Amino acid sequence: MTTQTASVECPNCSARSFETDNYCAGCGRPLGSTAKIARDFAVGVAQEIGKTGRTIMKSEGGKKIAAGAALGAAVAAAVPFFTLGTGAVLGASVAAYRRYKVKR
Ligand SMILES: [Zn+2]
Repeated sequence: MTTQTASVECPNCSARSFETDNYCAGCGRPLGSTAKIARDFAVGVAQEIGKTGRTIMKSEGGKKIAAGAALGAAVAAAVPFFTLGTGAVLGASVAAYRRYKVKR
């Protein structure tokens, strides 16, 4: 296979491994699991927002969701492996879930 192009640098020993590897080739430290979990979570909440976002955004809760997105982006700025977009999605999802649960 020639599709493995992405590589990650081990934060512990700086050895490079494929993004798909679970453990560092240099020191054996677990690799990418946190980022992968965050990515999977972001995909899940993005789908959830896609389902409920339209109706929520029409309500006053939309403002709180936007505030949550801003907060998420701020958190993302402090956490290296989150992109700003991912942080915004996560923040919005937290606000959306809270709003959703309260309403139901
Ligand atoms: Zn390592």
